[in-house]
Amino acid sequence: MDFDTIAAISTPMGEGAIAIVRLSGNEAINIVDKVFKSPSQKKLRDVPTHTIHYGNIIDPESGQVVEEVMVSVMRAPKTFTREDVVEINCHGGLVTVNRVLQLVLTNGARLAEPGEFTKRAFLNGRIDLSQAEAVMDLIRAKTDRAMNMALGQMEGRLSKLIKRLRQEILETLAHVEVNIDYPEYDDVEEMTHQMLVEKAQYVRKEIEKLLQTSQQGKILREGLSTVIIGRPNVGKSSLLNSLVHENKAIVTDIPGTTRDVIEEYVNVRGVPLRLVDTAGIRETEDIVERIGVERSRQVLKEADLILLVLNYNEQLSKEDEQLLEAVKGMDYIVIVNKTDLPQKINLEQVKKLAKDRPIITTSLKEEKGIDDLEEAISSLFFEGNVQSGDLTYVSNTRHISLLTQAKKAIEDALDGIKQGVPIDIVQIDLTRSWELLGEIIGDAVHESLIDQLFSQFCLGK
Ligand code: GDP
Ligand code: ZN
Repeated sequence: MDFDTIAAISTPMGEGAIAIVRLSGNEAINIVDKVFKSPSQKKLRDVPTHTIHYGNIIDPESGQVVEEVMVSVMRAPKTFTREDVVEINCHGGLVTVNRVLQLVLTNGARLAEPGEFTKRAFLNGRIDLSQAEAVMDLIRAKTDRAMNMALGQMEGRLSKLIKRLRQEILETLAHVEVNIDYPEYDDVEEMTHQMLVEKAQYVRKEIEKLLQTSQQGKILREGLSTVIIGRPNVGKSSLLNSLVHENKAIVTDIPGTTRDVIEEYVNVRGVPLRLVDTAGIRETEDIVERIGVERSRQVLKEADLILLVLNYNEQLSKEDEQLLEAVKGMDYIVIVNKTDLPQKINLEQVKKLAKDRPIITTSLKEEKGIDDLEEAISSLFFEGNVQSGDLTYVSNTRHISLLTQAKKAIEDALDGIKQGVPIDIVQIDLTRSWELLGEIIGDAVHESLIDQLFSQFCLGK
């Protein structure tokens, strides 16, 4: 495909001191040649591909030096977009970077739309749709683990699995075809039925597995909504502060996130915690007394993780027991705080009430036990499931919806077989699941859907 040459500022992850002006398209190298001067006077059109060159960006009209730069030249097709790509690495501030961008724009490039680089990669067949979406997730990824997940998807794990499932369905459909073409052979029909059921069940199971990972994927991207509860003075605010101070707070400059709810993001060993409505927690110190057990249950029900704080220096009170009762069946960790003071709490009693939940003792005042708490949070979340790098994670709302629909179509097919409906009706359901899975990797999408997806990307990606 032939496109015009686009350009945009593409700041690398982590907001380093370097900003990149990226160009993609047939004219990318020629355009940069108009504004770039290397000390050796060498032209970029003569340099080998995938090389980096030092020089200056010069305004061709005034002859003025705008910026000292390193320019990477990458020729098609081994580039992200499969087009010629030039990256101008600037280390000056935003103002000079903008001037460099302006210069390439006045010399023949067009300003890229948000996500247009990735869109080209998709349209040029470099990546499929789920990989493109993974790039979008990558841009938004808030923690290392979320980033690895996005990377894994980008490598095409999900695509590979989806392709395999589609292949299974396709083969099954081919067998069904045989049955429709030769209905007089009874044994073919017999075989087809049995194979249909087996294949459909297998595909359903694989889709279910993928869907099971989706909850974790969502949490990794959005943060584990976490509520700290406990009676007044047990150390809730202290706990919040040490979690925020011990761990790098996660920057939340993601477009579209609500700003009205006060949330603190912290990254605890790769688990993103969204400490929900922390201001609210400060005000509702006495969550049970103030809003009653029933209402507080409601608040707690919406949390993914509850940190229940008790006082080591006091006997377990009625309210403590009520709190322990209220969080039954939820994911919670008991924190027995103030171990620097004499023990008055009966830990055996706590153990009995907290069943098999982790109980961590801390002295937040002396900064003790915080490591144990972090360990507990991380193992609660990662034990046995997310940590293994082989799993394929589904983290995208659109994927989840399509997988759910595909699963439904498979189930319809299975029901149909059970009820003995004509096999060509079953075939329709199977075809539908095949199409739905195809939409995940972009095999059957409409232009408008593509545009909508890519418009969500940040500029310059
Ligand atoms: P909250 O009311 O549950 O939010 O409790 P705070 O975090 O405000 O703490 C109540 C009081 O307990 C403050 O004076 C803290 O300094 C103190 N405190 C918190 N953690 C500890 C601890 O581990 N040991 C001791 N001795 N005091 C603590
Ligand atoms: Zn407090």
